Amino acid sequence: MSNSSTPHSPRRGIDWLRDPATNEGTAFTAAERDALGLRGLLPPRVATIEEQAQRMLANLRGYTAPLHKYVALEALHGRNTELYYRLLTDHLEELMPIAYTPTVGEDCQHFGHIFQQARGLYVSIEDRGRVAQLLANWPEDGVDIVVVTDGERILGLGDLGANGMGIAIGKLALYVACAGIHPRRKLPVLLDVGTNNLALRGDPLYLGLNRPRATGAEYDALVDEFMTALAQRFPGVVVQFEDFANHHAFELLARWRERLPSFNDDIQGTAAVAVAGLLSALRATGGKAVEQRLLFLGAGEAATGIADLYAAAVRAEGVAPDDARRCSWLFDSKGLVVAGRADLAAHKRAYAHAHAPVADFAAAVEALRPTAIIGVSAVAGAFDERVLRALAACNARPIVFALSNPTSRAECTAEQAYRCTDGRALFASGSPFGAVEFNGRRHVPRQGNNAYVFPGIGLGAIVSRTRAITDEMFLTAARTLAGEVSDADLAQGSLYPPLAQVRQVSARIAAAVASVAWAQGLSPLPCPSDLPSLVRASMYEPGYRGCAAAGA
Ligand code: NAD
Repeated sequence: MSNSSTPHSPRRGIDWLRDPATNEGTAFTAAERDALGLRGLLPPRVATIEEQAQRMLANLRGYTAPLHKYVALEALHGRNTELYYRLLTDHLEELMPIAYTPTVGEDCQHFGHIFQQARGLYVSIEDRGRVAQLLANWPEDGVDIVVVTDGERILGLGDLGANGMGIAIGKLALYVACAGIHPRRKLPVLLDVGTNNLALRGDPLYLGLNRPRATGAEYDALVDEFMTALAQRFPGVVVQFEDFANHHAFELLARWRERLPSFNDDIQGTAAVAVAGLLSALRATGGKAVEQRLLFLGAGEAATGIADLYAAAVRAEGVAPDDARRCSWLFDSKGLVVAGRADLAAHKRAYAHAHAPVADFAAAVEALRPTAIIGVSAVAGAFDERVLRALAACNARPIVFALSNPTSRAECTAEQAYRCTDGRALFASGSPFGAVEFNGRRHVPRQGNNAYVFPGIGLGAIVSRTRAITDEMFLTAARTLAGEVSDADLAQGSLYPPLAQVRQVSARIAAAVASVAWAQGLSPLPCPSDLPSLVRASMYEPGYRGCAAAGA
């Protein structure tokens, strides 16, 4: 005998509290409590959403371990959508490192151990032939944006299999908080093709398939089936490929970017953020883009994505493509990427310039005398004192980007960058570092956080319903972001605007991206007369709507 409601029985009071999309908890007003059958189910005092947020924030601050904060925040995510997003939106600087990097990396490492409730769609290699059915099970009728990963290269942490779902969830939370994508219109997807991480496979609490990764035709068939079914179920949906390993990332992007509005944030979003940081740094050094020599530690998705977009920025100044590419040099696990080196993967070849082999990164800095070093290798501490001092010896304002995530993988800390360059470095990082006092000066480094860019790209693509997401859109996004950096930011060593301004930044990027869509003839819609207003009006603002909005 059960007295709980069935899917067919009318909603009872308790159901409003159990559904995170309608739960307002103690903020339900007296009239709503009467109308919805909630009287007696809540403590008598009616609270505001601000009071609820303050209570939650105080609780979060009570935890010392970031992972515990993450678990508490996710519990809120699962019980009250509006309060979760109100809190995240209003306290982004404090909470983004919990909801996303670096803590999301820990979440992914421990996913099976801290799992509370399912969120998102799991499509496994065993679901081949019935992926459309899985998509039909998704409860929302409309989805505007999907973040999909196969978990093979999570941040700099490697293959985390099905645990990679944490990344897709975190990234989509940022789409909502940073760009006002509606929470119900986003979909995190984990493609579970197995994992080669033996420690995970031996863990009894691991929640993914216990098998080696599918490869080749089997893998391709699943991805193709998923993408095709997705486009049928949600026509026009924007797809962000996330944390795929090199051997799939470039190929997937090339295969799908002409067929669906899709992009790879690790390659293209990173590129836009890093190029924006470089443009800001050039304002401080007074140098021209074409005069720069960028030396990348790492030659993967981030490095080649940044190098390609930087070359596009240089080309836009009238420089020939070959000369534009010569601004960037790559250094991978086997040394400097040079012409004639055997076994170079396709994505590195455009940057294999003529030079003698160099096996040691510090020696490469000494030989090439770059104006900037960009760490995207996930090798912690690789920008050591010798590297930083060599860079400082040939630049008045050396540019140091230690972009690897999470913090434990950073090539150097902010403090090391300033100390080893006598406080002259223009520094940006992948994970957040606090302000540094050095020689009586306060440096405020900011994170080259992809969250400055991908939410605005997604919003611009959604608003314009663009058929494709083009390189020009990323260059526009980079320039727009750089344009948001004030002279005061630059004077204190910040190459990015405050994260607290990210909604404004996203709105501007979205309008700029959408205008490129119209200029390139990629939007099926008539071009609006006031694009910035249209973008702002389309942004979701978290807050309670009462029982009327919930359909009562
Ligand atoms: P990737 O796997 O595509 O590339 C890693 C590269 O590092 C490979 O080319 C590899 O050869 C090279 N490498 C590995 N060991 C090395 C060594 N000892 N010396 C020199 N090179 C070495 O990964 P990716 O997507 O390019 O990301 C790399 C790192 O950058 C990750 O930590 C990621 O989290 C970080 N990242 C940061 C941002 C950001 O801050 N905005 C954005 C994207 C990626």
